Amino acid sequence: TTPILDIRDLRVTFPTDDGLVHAVNGMDLVVQRGETVGIVGESGSGKTVTSQTLMGLLKGTSAKVTGRVLFDGTDLVPLSESEMRPYRGRKIGMIFQDPLSAMHPFYTVGRQIAEAYRVHNRVSAKAAKAQAIEMLNRVGIPDPVARYDSYPHEFSGGMRQRAMIAMALICEPELLIADEPTTALDVTVQAQILDLIGSLQAETGSAVIFVTHDLGVVAEVCKRVVVMYGGQCVEEAGVHDLFFRTAHPYARGLLASMPSMVDEAGRLTPIPGFPPSLLDLPQGCLFADRCPVAALVPDDRCRTERPGLTLVGSDHRARCHLAEVDIQTSALDLQEVA
Ligand code: SF4
Repeated sequence: TTPILDIRDLRVTFPTDDGLVHAVNGMDLVVQRGETVGIVGESGSGKTVTSQTLMGLLKGTSAKVTGRVLFDGTDLVPLSESEMRPYRGRKIGMIFQDPLSAMHPFYTVGRQIAEAYRVHNRVSAKAAKAQAIEMLNRVGIPDPVARYDSYPHEFSGGMRQRAMIAMALICEPELLIADEPTTALDVTVQAQILDLIGSLQAETGSAVIFVTHDLGVVAEVCKRVVVMYGGQCVEEAGVHDLFFRTAHPYARGLLASMPSMVDEAGRLTPIPGFPPSLLDLPQGCLFADRCPVAALVPDDRCRTERPGLTLVGSDHRARCHLAEVDIQTSALDLQEVA
């Protein structure tokens, strides 16, 4: 069957005063129906721009998007803002890190959920309200009839996130994009929200893309993971293979630094050095400046030649010259160097 999402060679650039920012540089991703996939990366890795592209949020901006984003076989890239409308919210739902930024402070939570339903369904206000209350109930909001009339600021952080999940799922989208959905929440509430998304996904059969910097979230909820760096996928694998047969030096660094990964501001501080400037991408591998094993590749290829994604196992790909040579040898080499 056609995958629900098939991204091919996606490239996104933004003009700025300093020059062209190459935010996404040839991203490929296939998501099957009902599948849960994690996109992991630091800020600036291109993960959020990729998810914004899927939602059509860059339409009407100065961003230039090329490549294909096939949703159920239809390419979303050439669609206009109005042609995109039936997809956004109806077929593709989105949950953000900060529900307050997605909700209007002056309208009640219930009304906003009901309106999200009415935009895509021809129903009376009364029927939409009933549907919204039912949805509030499904996401575990206590006393949903009374809470329908509460304003966003009257909800706790966890309750607001539940309400936003209700808003995103009320139209039963085939694909849900969850962009750092639990980052702002404490650990207990985080676990509850992840459970909630998982159980609603099982009920509705939606595919889910978790966009996150948090490998813990990935390990808990995803079957497959894509690691992004410099606007590219550098490794794609099943969760087990990513954790136990890691092939890309960046992904290895990410895993090795997991306990100290998050600083006080909640950002990653994984590997010495900085990501490449997206204004002036290096000619070779985008990770070359920080890579501890670049010297193992002969002829300075890491500096002169950009590696492609290479199959290194069953459904397991890595973008590294060492992986191209021989995954067994490179895995040994990497262990020695680490
Ligand atoms: Fe490191 Fe070279 Fe592999 Fe890039 S291609 S990750 S620089 S070894």
